[in-house]
Formats: sequence, C-alpha cells, structure tokens
Amino acid sequence: MMKAQKDQVDLSLSQQWDRVKTHLKNELGNDIFNNWIQPLDIQELTQDQLTLAAPTPFIQNWVSTYYLEAIQQLFCEENPDLKRIILGVSPHSAAESSEEKAVAKGEAEPDFQEGDFVGSPLDPRCTFENFVVGKPNELAHAAARRVAESTQVPFNPLFLYGGVGLGKTHLMHAIAHHIQKTQRNRKVMYLSAEKFMYQFIRALRYRDTVAFKDRFRSVDVLMIDDVQFISGKDSTQEEFFHTFNALVDQNHQVIISADKSPSDLEGMEERLRSRLGWGLVADIHPTTYELRLGILQSKVEQIKQTIPKKVLEFLAHKITSNVRELEGALIRIVAHATLVGREISLEMIQEVLRDLLRSNERLLTVEEIQRKIAEYYNVRLSDMHSPKRSRAVARPRQVAMYLAKKLTTRSLPEIGRHFGGRDHTTVIHGVKKIEELLMTDIGLREDIDLLRRTLEA
Ligand code: ADP
Ligand code: MG
Repeated sequence: MMKAQKDQVDLSLSQQWDRVKTHLKNELGNDIFNNWIQPLDIQELTQDQLTLAAPTPFIQNWVSTYYLEAIQQLFCEENPDLKRIILGVSPHSAAESSEEKAVAKGEAEPDFQEGDFVGSPLDPRCTFENFVVGKPNELAHAAARRVAESTQVPFNPLFLYGGVGLGKTHLMHAIAHHIQKTQRNRKVMYLSAEKFMYQFIRALRYRDTVAFKDRFRSVDVLMIDDVQFISGKDSTQEEFFHTFNALVDQNHQVIISADKSPSDLEGMEERLRSRLGWGLVADIHPTTYELRLGILQSKVEQIKQTIPKKVLEFLAHKITSNVRELEGALIRIVAHATLVGREISLEMIQEVLRDLLRSNERLLTVEEIQRKIAEYYNVRLSDMHSPKRSRAVARPRQVAMYLAKKLTTRSLPEIGRHFGGRDHTTVIHGVKKIEELLMTDIGLREDIDLLRRTLEA
C-alpha cells in the first residue's frame, strides 16, 4: 500500500475510534470512561480484526469483562468491515507478561533494575469504604481491618480463604490502600502468587536469588494472593516457605489468600500448610440474599444510577454464584440500558441476562422437593413413596408431585418413578387435583407459595 493511502486509512481508523470513544463517554459517564476506556490505544488492524491495547493486564481484564462487547458493537457500526476486536496489553508497559514469555523462551536479556521488582497494581475501587459487610464475610473483614489499622502485627499470617469472587482480593487491596494512606513509613507489597513465581523463576535464571530474597524481606507488609497457584511447584514453594519464615520471624506482617483452607491446599508441602495456619485463618462464606442485595445497592449508588428495587431484588435472588458475577450483571444491564436507550425493567434484564440467569439456575431434584414437603406437612419421607392413600399423606404427596412438575424438568413418568413407581396418570391426576384446589383454597395457595419460595431460594 502506498504511504499516502496508508496514512489515510490510519487516519480514518483513529477517527472511528474517536467517534466510538465519544459515544462511550456519553453513555458511560466521565468516571468510567476515564478509568477504563481512555487508557486504551489502537494497536493493530489486520483485515477484519482490530487489536486494542490496555496499559496493564488488570485494565485489559476488566475492560474485556465489562466493556468489550459495547466497544465491539459500536466499532462495527463505524466500520462494517470489522469482524472482531481483540484487547491485548500494550507491549511497552506490559513488561510483566511479555518478559515472562521472553524468559520462558530464553530470549530476554538479564536487566535487573530496582524498578522491575514491583508488586501487582491495586484497584483503586477496592477500599474498605466500598466493601459491604454481612454475615458471610464479617470475620474476614474484621480481621482485615485489624491488620490495616494496627501498627503492630496482630496475627501472622492472616490467611483469608473462600471461593472465587467472594472478596478476598478486594480485602487485600483495601488493607494495602489503608496502610499506604495512614502509615506511610510501612512498605506494603501486594502481589499475585503467579507474579511471585514469575519473579522467582526469573531470579533463578539470572542467579539473582539473593537479591530476590533481600527485596522481599525489606517489605513490612507482604500480601500474596491466590497461593493455591504455588502448589505443586516445588522450588517456588521452597522459596516461598523461606521468604515467609524470614518475614514472620522478623515480625513483618504477611497476608495470604487462597481458595481453600491451609489444610486443604493440595500439592502443598505439609510443613508449609501447617505453617500457613499458625496465625488467624478467616474464611469467607458464600453470599446470602441480604448481602447480595446490600452489595447491589451500594454499587448502584457508586455508579449513580437508579434501578427499580424489584430489579435489584430479582438479581440478588437469582445470581447466587458470586459477587463478581453479580457486579458483572449490573454493569451489563446498565451498559445495555444506556447504549440502546432502554428502560431497566424486569423483562429487560431477563432478556439481557438470559445466559447468566440460566447458568445460575439451581437444579432442584425431586428428592429435595419431597424432603421439604414431608418436613413441612410433618409426614415421613417414606410416605412419599408408600402406597398409603389416607388423606393425611395423599395430599402432601400430590403437592410434591405438583411442585416436581412445576419446578423440575422431569417428565411425568420420571416423576411417577420417584413416588414409589406410580404411573404417569397418577401424577397427572395429582397435579390436576392441586391445580383445582388452588383456585378455591387460599390456605393451600399460601402453603404452596411459601414452599415454592423456600425451594427456589
Ligand atoms: P476473590 O478475590 O475472592 O475471587 P474479588 O475480591 O476479586 O474476589 O471480588 C470480586 C468482585 O466482587 C470485586 O469487584 C469486588 O470488588 C466485589 N466484591 C466482593 N465482595 C464484595 C463486598 N462484600 N462488597 C463489595 N464488593 C465486593
Ligand atoms: Mg482474587
């Protein structure tokens, strides 16, 4: 391509990008725009694929999750030839990931400078102020606060554990922010276990392990996130163990997170596992409905949106997997509403979140239904299968059949088999009977309503 022509293409591409950005700025507001969209650059256009670059892996990750779809939609409108947008990390600032690959391939030059040795970046939004406390996370939160506010070392290590997306990283970042703000003389370092491993492997390669250790040991508060990634990697484990011991012995605070308790960390040496459990071990439990609703309300305030209460309750009820998904759902509906100019309603979110709602659907079993109903009507579980026909057991059995039909995808013959091998016509009869009664019997309607809600909770 001739140079003049190429410049023209580039110019129009960057103009297109400017237009997309203007659009996004209007839709997302200045804060979100400046945080996430402004830092992105155009990197490369090949045929029908455009690559954008984020300055850090963190921003790349976040934008991919929340905004890439919208960017792609808008860009493709600007430029119909475009089929796909890929978001990478820009090569100059992504020293971490690109060097990692170079080291693995044995290409990189040894160039250790003080500046190379840094922790992972902190998310400015992960503060204590933005953390919603509820029963499932109150212990972890209190422990994190204690570590952040104390000038001593209250317990060492603090070991936070819990499932994905429940707030471990958020709490660690909050501790780091707080200490950086209130105790400027203390040196805090936060890093993912992966980054720890990478730095260690690099140090080994350049025979720089002494300096590696010294650098870690000069830190007052060291946080290593997701240590389960260290399991199985023997030499890194060994080094981690020594660094850990040295820091704890010198009374430097260590904070660790993992997806499992120390004793459940498989592939980790016994002495390390037991050492990790010496301080305070605090677990974060799965969220409750109340906590999910509280988190949604706080996020809605943060992004300055008004969303009907019914919608928030619906989301808190339905998206039970973890906070990250809950947050993702909220951002998705807000982005959708602003981009296509639609009002946020129950119908709208069910449409926008169809896939997410489906994956969060808990699959009820016929047994669970039978158990709940037996308990509720105070009959034996075995009465659900028994041939007894007295009203006292027949009615609860019909209720169970009715709910099994309504709340599971089991066929009538399958349901019949769960009720002591009854015929599918018996099931039809039971379901019909309850449907009839529901029209007149308010008490039964209330019972079934309640049962349904507890079963679906
Ligand atoms: P983990 O590290 O346990 O996988 P994160 O700390 O990354 O989970 O949390 C996932 C997302 O949910 C983050 O955006 C975080 O800010 C948010 N989050 C988790 N718990 C809470 C909470 N209690 N209050 C507010 N936001 C939360
Ligand atoms: Mg995390």
